[in-house]
Amino acid sequence: ASGLPVQAVQRTLMSYGQMVTINAMLDAETAELLAAEHGIDLNIKTPESIEDTLIAEIEDMVDDPDQLSERPPVVTFLGHVDHGKTSLLDKIIGLDVVSGEAGGITQHIRAYIVDKGEKQIAFVDTPGHEAFTEMRARGANVTDIAVLIVAADDGIMPQTEEAISHAKAANVPIIVALNKMDVPGANPEKALQQLSQHGLLPAEWGGDVEVVKTSAITGEGVDTLLETILLTSEIHEYTANPSRNAVGVCLEAEQESDRGVLAKLIVNNGSLKVGDVVVCGSTYGRVKAMYDTLNPRKRLDVAPPSTPVNVTGFDEAPAAGEKFYVLEDIADAREIAEMRASRSREQHLGGHTVKVSFEDFQARLQSGNLAGDDAGIVYLNIILRADTRGSIEAIQKELDKLDHPEVKVRVMQATVGGVTVADVTLASASDAVIVAFNVIPDEAARSLADDRGVEVRRYNIIYKVTEDIKLLLEGQLRPES
Ligand code: GDP
Repeated sequence: ASGLPVQAVQRTLMSYGQMVTINAMLDAETAELLAAEHGIDLNIKTPESIEDTLIAEIEDMVDDPDQLSERPPVVTFLGHVDHGKTSLLDKIIGLDVVSGEAGGITQHIRAYIVDKGEKQIAFVDTPGHEAFTEMRARGANVTDIAVLIVAADDGIMPQTEEAISHAKAANVPIIVALNKMDVPGANPEKALQQLSQHGLLPAEWGGDVEVVKTSAITGEGVDTLLETILLTSEIHEYTANPSRNAVGVCLEAEQESDRGVLAKLIVNNGSLKVGDVVVCGSTYGRVKAMYDTLNPRKRLDVAPPSTPVNVTGFDEAPAAGEKFYVLEDIADAREIAEMRASRSREQHLGGHTVKVSFEDFQARLQSGNLAGDDAGIVYLNIILRADTRGSIEAIQKELDKLDHPEVKVRVMQATVGGVTVADVTLASASDAVIVAFNVIPDEAARSLADDRGVEVRRYNIIYKVTEDIKLLLEGQLRPES
């Protein structure tokens, strides 16, 4: 297309030591050299450019305020295992599936939209808070409101603590459902006390956290919970533009033998329609059919904002947490999907990951390469895991003494026990380093941390923790031996 004779081009390339055939692909660098030599203006179309333009355009799109309308809130249930997440959601949707599910375990992400009077509420039930945070790590912000389920007889348990950190890190309003109020051992006062100790001061004690007492068995408080969700939603005025092309997130997907790929998507903005061209991660397709998630036989033609739907038409199963976009042209969708697939293969081979470590933080701090808040304060995020409450308190006390004009140490979570997969997910979503005091990561956590480039720093002497952070702040931290 340059109008140059092929031989001339080949001669030049040979002078660079490259032997090429007529149809060979040139890398951008060679092409640039070549163009310079022959005095040609080159407009390199890198494979990124189509993704950059099309997807970035959608991401940057600002909705016309006149087209915005109220949308249902998307609510996620979080909490300690067995505190009643599944049962409460079942009660809300009027189903009784706890007894029917294999082993009573929630294996899949459930997502439903339910009517409450004139309004609607969408619920997304993730198997654990790591799934919730994993979505955030991929930039997919699905949740508007987190409902923290706490069994009134057990009170706050380790996973409740984790759930609180994850919800706080997501920066969404938290409503507490104090569940199992029907059991004889229920002790709501103690639970309220524990909640306030964890920075969730109940509204009835003058705080800003709504606590609703519920029972998934008797149904007590379930209606109040829904009303509280709608009230919170009203305050935050969640809006969307139903007349634009849809964007949203894949919650999960599977290859079904008869229907091909079935993907559970939730629409964040716009309306998804049958026939739409979609790209989601490294998969693409044209929406063939959409089904209601509560009633899988009910076909839908349009899914407005906040609606979860089961969708067929993808070429392959998209990954959970991957964002989807509606494009005009199926060829563009295919190109973006294929490009992403080959890039992720390369990254996998090349081991490209963004590192989160003390050293990396120090390097970025030195180069001034860290974004601060409005006041210019940069945060060093830490997830603290320790053997005992006492260690946590002692370390926190030491950390409080650290004083730096531009950097603040922010402890996102401080809990007793070994490092878990959920910690690593939270760390990678929040750019945090994990400090493990007298504890170790379990096998799964270790391998995920390796994968994500999340540093787990192990200590067994309290002052060493603060000493390292001090060195880091002074730019004097040495690599760990
Ligand atoms: P999840 O692990 O948080 O999803 O908890 P489940 O919903 O599976 O509930 C765990 C167990 O607690 C089940 O046996 C439920 O029947 C029971 N359960 C859940 N909510 C309540 C409640 O409000 N009252 C009583 N008595 N039992 C409940």
